[in-house]
Amino acid sequence: MPELPEVETIRRGLAGLAGRRVQQVRWARASLRGKTVRSLEELRGRTICGLDRHGKFLLVRLDDASTFVVHLGMTGKLLLGRPGDDPRPHTHLEVGLDDGSTLRYIDPRRFGSLRLEAPGAIPPEVSRYGPDAVSSHFTPQSLQENLRQSRAPLKAFLLDQSKVAGIGNIYACEALWRAGLSPRRSANRTPRGRIPLLHKSIVEVLTEAIGLGGTSFNDYVDSIGRPGTFVAKLAVFQREGEACPRCASKVRRIVQSGRSTFYCPKCQR
Ligand SMILES: [Zn+2]
Repeated sequence: MPELPEVETIRRGLAGLAGRRVQQVRWARASLRGKTVRSLEELRGRTICGLDRHGKFLLVRLDDASTFVVHLGMTGKLLLGRPGDDPRPHTHLEVGLDDGSTLRYIDPRRFGSLRLEAPGAIPPEVSRYGPDAVSSHFTPQSLQENLRQSRAPLKAFLLDQSKVAGIGNIYACEALWRAGLSPRRSANRTPRGRIPLLHKSIVEVLTEAIGLGGTSFNDYVDSIGRPGTFVAKLAVFQREGEACPRCASKVRRIVQSGRSTFYCPKCQR
């Protein structure tokens, strides 16, 4: 599933769309699992002012102060192409722009969501979610405050978007490995003195992954179809049985809240 670094890579790849006007919209209504609040046909005639991101959500700002909110779900892709490009299976939305380019949303498993927020409305993803993990609003102090109030295991805490937005399974495992903290430890039992390192580990792993265009296993590609290369830098994620890069113990896999967690039982405490 695309997490913060993958969505940020896509956002950067599409930043040049600012100033482009939407000329055509082809939308396969009701083809995605998520509910649609307004008709995406209303995108026609709008000019793109800029692209923002909050956590895993891409926020396309439009000239009437509305926001087109994209969540890639499990297998969503936003691909920039030309109108004459071969049709691709699982295309749910095709937006023709005034420079002749076409933006397509492709999603085989259909867990993504595409939503047009009313002019001036703040997308609920921004108002309900915690601070974006690479923004200045995410600080060691805000992290400490939230940790204190949660009894969830650290791994589950990091996946909770209302605490901090943008971290998914891959980067939760990697950040906890970097911080030397066990994913099973209760959030409110994180020693105060170790919180700055946890904060630093989260920000660093996400920032490094952005620098390498994200992590690709099977599905994720950027806006022109290139995979990310952070997979070579993963210390523990999907490395069960391999040697921990820090202490050479075997990386273990456990299941927490129905999802795999990878960690080093020796040097993560
Ligand atoms: Zn280790």
